[in-house]
Amino acid sequence: MKIVLLGGPGAGKGTQSKIISEKFQIAHISTGEILRRAMEQQTEIGKQVEHIMNEGNLVPDQLAIDILKDRIAQKDCERGFVLDGFPRTLKQAEILEEVVGKIDKIIYISVPDEYVIKRMSGRYTCPQCEAMYHMEYNRPERSGYCNLCNVELVQREDDRIRTVQNRLRVFHELTKPIVDYFENKNMLVEINGIGEINTITNLIAMAVDQTQQEV
Ligand code: AMP
Repeated sequence: MKIVLLGGPGAGKGTQSKIISEKFQIAHISTGEILRRAMEQQTEIGKQVEHIMNEGNLVPDQLAIDILKDRIAQKDCERGFVLDGFPRTLKQAEILEEVVGKIDKIIYISVPDEYVIKRMSGRYTCPQCEAMYHMEYNRPERSGYCNLCNVELVQREDDRIRTVQNRLRVFHELTKPIVDYFENKNMLVEINGIGEINTITNLIAMAVDQTQQEV
């Protein structure tokens, strides 16, 4: 089972990808998460991309493709995976199936920009497990600390308002065209990303189940 979750910043693709990967027991591949780890560990790649990511811009296509190739070769991807954050440009979309094989379903979680800005400006993340919380919609049990790790929550640099606005601009300019690209290939299912996390998970799971029946 190979699934791609597409969506703009703050559409909930990270949250949903994690839930879906557990539900269907497939790997969760987040190119953003791999890049953030590289930044934290200050590897060569991490140092190279720090500025790009903090500004909300995209890292070069070839780097994202190489990261994906490496990740896909790991054992936990054998049963399938959810791709979260790749592809992000037409070039990445065109090369996708060459790199990872046939994709079963592409799910686009759509959310209007106004909503994204509201959502993302209150978002806090656990630096250890990447669990997400929100000051308004999803508060941690102990204020400021992760429910799972008890580690102090942080606001991701790329969740700050100015960066969010740039990420939205980048999304519309570079990533949105791939929604049409996959739609024309009849591979896309669009899901409304406004609502309870559970409701949206169910909609995604239904689309995945339907794919399994078609296979
Ligand atoms: P995400 O966690 O998916 O929101 O990604 C965070 C950041 O990582 C993005 O804003 C980009 O700077 C970078 N990134 C992640 N995936 C890709 C990709 N496929 N292509 C280019 N940049 C990416």
